[in-house]
Order: sequence, then structure tokens, then C-alpha cells
Amino acid sequence: MNWQERTGCGNVGKDDVGREIQLQGWVDARRDHGEVLFIHLRDWTGIVQVVFQETESKDMLETAQNLREEYCIEITGRVVARAPGTENSSITTGTIEVTASALSVLNASVGLPFHISEKAMVAGAVVGTPANVAEDLRLQYRYLDLRRPSMQDNLIKRHQIIKSARKILEDRGFIEVETPCLTKSTPEGARDYIVPSRVHPGEFYALPQSPQLFKQLLMVSGLERYYQVARCFRDEDLRPNRQPEFTQLDIEASFIDESFLFELIEEIVSQMFAVGGIDLLRPFPKMCYQEAIATTGSDRPDLRFGLRFVAATDLFTNTSYAIFKQILKRNGCIIGINVKGQSEALSKNVLQNEYAKQIVPGFGGKGMTWMRMVDGKLDSNIVQFFSPAEQQDIIERFECEDGDVLMIIADPSYALATKVLGQLRLHVADRLGLIPKNTWSPVWVTDFPLFDPTETGGVTSTHHPFTAPDRTDFDPQNVSDLLSLKSRAYDIVLNGEELGGGSIRIDNREVQQKIFTALGLTPEEAAQKFGFFLQAFEFGPPPHGGLALGIDRIAAMVLSTRSIRDVIAFPKNRSAFCPLTHAPSLVSHEQLAELELLNLGGGEAMPGKAEKNLLETLSWVSRIGIREEEALMIKTAVEQAEKLATQIQARATDEEPMFSVIPLQNRTRPGREAVAHFGVENGDLLTNAAEVKGDFFKVANIIE
Ligand code: ASP
Repeated sequence: MNWQERTGCGNVGKDDVGREIQLQGWVDARRDHGEVLFIHLRDWTGIVQVVFQETESKDMLETAQNLREEYCIEITGRVVARAPGTENSSITTGTIEVTASALSVLNASVGLPFHISEKAMVAGAVVGTPANVAEDLRLQYRYLDLRRPSMQDNLIKRHQIIKSARKILEDRGFIEVETPCLTKSTPEGARDYIVPSRVHPGEFYALPQSPQLFKQLLMVSGLERYYQVARCFRDEDLRPNRQPEFTQLDIEASFIDESFLFELIEEIVSQMFAVGGIDLLRPFPKMCYQEAIATTGSDRPDLRFGLRFVAATDLFTNTSYAIFKQILKRNGCIIGINVKGQSEALSKNVLQNEYAKQIVPGFGGKGMTWMRMVDGKLDSNIVQFFSPAEQQDIIERFECEDGDVLMIIADPSYALATKVLGQLRLHVADRLGLIPKNTWSPVWVTDFPLFDPTETGGVTSTHHPFTAPDRTDFDPQNVSDLLSLKSRAYDIVLNGEELGGGSIRIDNREVQQKIFTALGLTPEEAAQKFGFFLQAFEFGPPPHGGLALGIDRIAAMVLSTRSIRDVIAFPKNRSAFCPLTHAPSLVSHEQLAELELLNLGGGEAMPGKAEKNLLETLSWVSRIGIREEEALMIKTAVEQAEKLATQIQARATDEEPMFSVIPLQNRTRPGREAVAHFGVENGDLLTNAAEVKGDFFKVANIIE
């Protein structure tokens, strides 16, 4: 292989005219004219047209005639300028072509599962439409999918994005340190992927949800500025654009504060987006969590457009409108948005039948109040319930003008009302095209609460348990005190998407211990899970903080791809499966035996089985945690169900069952003759059905 002489297909240009060059690559497309044959030759630098002529060599032409798509070949040829009028502006090398003098087929290709060529500009050639190929097929033949120039470009740009960040970090003295993948659980709020150990039978490593604990330990070690392009693993429920493993740019530094990190990250994010030609205006604005929720209903506020919330609770203190009255009695809130000048697009019918009845309930809201401003007055199905003074207040508070539409959510829960209105805000903006294209609105969201309440009356970390609180004099047993704490965490958000987040960390052992206590861990549990970490904090830890950026999401945004899978070389599909390697897959009996996993799932391994504790077993198999105070109630219910089951079983032995699913047969009560309803035969049965298809009619969807 004469690699020294090789020229990249996309690098040939006008300056090379007259030169003899050697190219290697894949046949992208071909057009055969008998005495002359054209191909597009492609490598990762681009595409160039190669011409095989009988006049050069008959043998060579014959070999060329047998070329098919994706054959890997090598040619030698001379660069010639194309005649005016035959230039091809769709490829960067379109002003020249290469007249081949030698051809060798390095390796042939079998027929393709889908076309790869995206630039099959040779007239008459099949133009591939890979975008329409089923994604699982693309993933199954990912190595072919990645031959497509657009996919190669994604991976090349992804590399440039990471490189731009590395450069900044290295210029500022950060060093890259690798942390383990086989480790102990790191709490980031997801389930762990666990890996069985053969050497320690019955024991497991966890794959890291993030390098959080290790990067903090590196700070204790005195390696003051750390970064890592780190793979993280989280076993979460499937959602579009989530991957079980993903890449973070993970950063931590000592003796710094928030301002250090804000400046650094703004520089990194700006350079990353510059790879896609996107210019982000700096400094990025900051918004506290409370304001983000109060004005957009989201801690990932999309600030590309208005539709900010208007608080209106106080306008209705004395209202006689029953629904509002009820809600205010329960300390609820009333908030709304003014959709300016959209009363044509948002007709009464759309507001009432689509939004109030379907869309808002779909977001979890109980309903929506709407009003339109017509001829200086409010108009809606309920406006008569508001006094003239209230109507005037509404007009003023929402700054209503003719053509405006108010959408109002009232709910006893502030959290629910803001969440529902937040989703409504995004829905309306999207539907009415109010989100400007090619606009980039970064924002730092700060001052998050340190804890969120749990359903069982406790607290859980809003970020993770290592985030510094805004004060340290809290009582770890006092839930309302805990819920009043703010954290020194920050998220970076762009166009409503979270790019990353981090915090200044706790650097005091006692405070860290108090946080574990607040989270409900006994000192023994804390020691068992995080003893090594707490111990490190006895040895003079420095003040430190950091952040992690989601590389996959950033690359997908920079490159405007439809999915994050398009910027990952070998992603899993939507069901966390790899169609290429068929992972996850079964393992052999021998492997399980070697790992001593064969008894897992057996009687002894199931909690409660050995002691015959039905409730514990039930809780384990159904994955429902049962609290002590619920135990008695559930136990009684289970016993009753057991009794009923025994009775049914007893009766079933001497009586014909009334209903059976499989096999399908008509069953009748004993002593009654089976009769078909006359309507079945003449079709009358379907006359009044709301919807009929063939011989069937639609019924309510009771069982999903
Ligand atoms: N470990 C955190 C995360 O994965 C980021 C950080 O706090 O630095 O979200």
C-alpha cells in the first residue's frame, strides 16, 4: 500500500490539474456509458469524479464495469479540468475530474441493505435517501451508516467540539485524570448498572453514574484542576434522547467560587457552539430557580420567546366565581399567560375543546380558564362570573389589547399550576410558531432548593448529596427547615435544554454527615456507603466545586441533529438495545455458574422467602416499598384476596367458569340456551355505534 503517495478525494482541486495522483476509497455511485464509465469515489475527505475510458485501457475499463457501490478501490490517474458546462457544483471537487490510468479492487462489497451515497450526483444514478431508512436497520449496519458523509461529519465535528473544550481547559492548567468504571454506587438519582465479580462471588461493582466521588477525592488529593471526558452509566426509564451510557465533560477545581466556573464554562460552551458556527452572546444571563419557575414554570426556561407568566391570585380574593373561590380557599394560586394578538389562531373552539378539555388535562391540569379581548372587553364562556371591577383588573394586570388571548391555570398546588402552565406555554409557542429559529438563549439557573420533598414525608437531594447548602446551621431532622435551604448549585440551560450542571461542594465532614442524616441515612448506613469519602474529609479537604456538561446533547444541538443517536458512533436504540451487537444478550450457563449467579432469583435470594414473610416477598417481586404503617392494612388486604382466591378455586372445580379468555368459546349460564342476538345477523347491532370498521364497532378503551 503506497500510502505516502495518497491524495484525499476531497482535497483534489484546480491547482492539481495535470498532476498524476493516487486515490483510495469507496465507489459512491457509478454511471456506465459503454466506452466511458464515471464513478464518484469517496473517502472521508470528500468525493471526486473518476473517469475510466477505453482509450486508456480496455482491461481497466472492463474491471471498472464490474465495480459496484461500496467496492473499496485504488486508482491512479491524472487530474483534468472539466469542460465548461460539465462542472458539478454539488461536490467540492466539481470543477475537475480524474482520468484513471490504473484501477485495483482492494475489496468487493456484497449488495447493500440501504443506499449510502448522499451525493450521487452522477446523472442517472440511484440517489440514496438514508434518512428514510429504519433506524434499527441503520444501527444494525452502523459501519455502513457511518460511511455516509453526513454521519462522518457529525463524528468529526463532535471530536472538534471536545477538542475545543480540551484546549481551553489545558490552557488553564487543568489535567485529564481517568477515574474507575468498576466502582461503587454514585448517587445521581438513577439506578446503577451492576457488574458481578468472579473473584468475590456474590459481590458486585456498580458502573459510575458520574465520577462525582472520585473527582472530589482528587481535590482532596491536591490535584487542583481536573477534567475528564467521562462515560457515565444510568439505568433510567427509556425516554427519547436518553442513552444508558453517555459522555460528560466532567470538571472540578479547588480554591475557586461560582464566578470562576461561570466564566470558564461560558468560554467552553461558546467555543463548542462556535464549531457549528453558532455565536453565543456573553456573559450568559442568570436567573434564580424561583424566578424561573414563577415566570416559565420550568427550571430549564426557554427564553427565546415571551409568554412569561402573570401572577393573578391576588385579583380574585373576593371573587364569586366558584372554581377560583374553591381553589383560593385551599391556598391555591392563579397564574396565566397573555398570548398577544392570537385570537384568530386560538378560536373559542380550540381553547375550549382542545386546550381546556384535552391538552391541559393531558399535562396533568384540572382545567383551563380562557378569555379573549374583543372590542376592549373580555369575552369567554365564564366572563359573566367576574365583576366589572375584576374584569378591569384582569385587563390591566395582563396588559390586554384587542386580539389577545388569556390562558389561565388555577390550582391548589403552586407546583402543579406552574408545571402545567409551563407545558402549556411551550405548546402554544410551538403551535403558533412563536419560537424564533436560529436564536440561542443561554441562561444560568441558580439558587436551587437543596432538597425536594419525598412522598413519604422526607427529603431527597435536588442535585446530589455533595452540593453545598447556602447555610450550615440547619437541623437535619426538621423537614420544613431542610426544605427552606437553598443550594450552591447551578445549571446551564440553552433554549430550554439543560446542557449541564454542578455546584460548589460541601468541604466539611460534619456538614456532609448532617446531609446524610437529613436524607434518612443512619450513621452506619452512611459509613457503609460513603465511609471512604467521609474519612477523606477528615484530612483537610480544600474548598472546591465543579460541573459536568452533557457532550452528546451539546453535540446534537450544535449540529442540529434529530436525535442524540446521530452524534454517537454506536448508540443503543430507543429500547436500550444494540441492533449491531445484539447487546444485552443471554450469557452461558457456565458463565453464570462461574460468577455464582445461578442461584439468583431462586428461593433463598428472594427477601422474605426463607422466613415465609409473604408481604416482604410481594414487595420485592412487585418492586413496591411498603412502609411499616402500611404493612397491617396491606397484610389484611392480601389475606382477604388469598381467601377469595381459595374460594374461587374451590368453586371452579365443580362449576363451569363464566368467562374464559383462551380458548375463545361461547359460555352460557347452566340451564339457558345459547341465542344469538338477531342484530348480529342483520348488522343492526352496529347502527348506533359511534364508529364502525368492517364488522366491528369501537368501544371505550377500558383496559390498556
Ligand atoms: N456529577 C454531577 C452530574 O453528573 C455534575 C456535578 O455536580 O459536577 O450531574
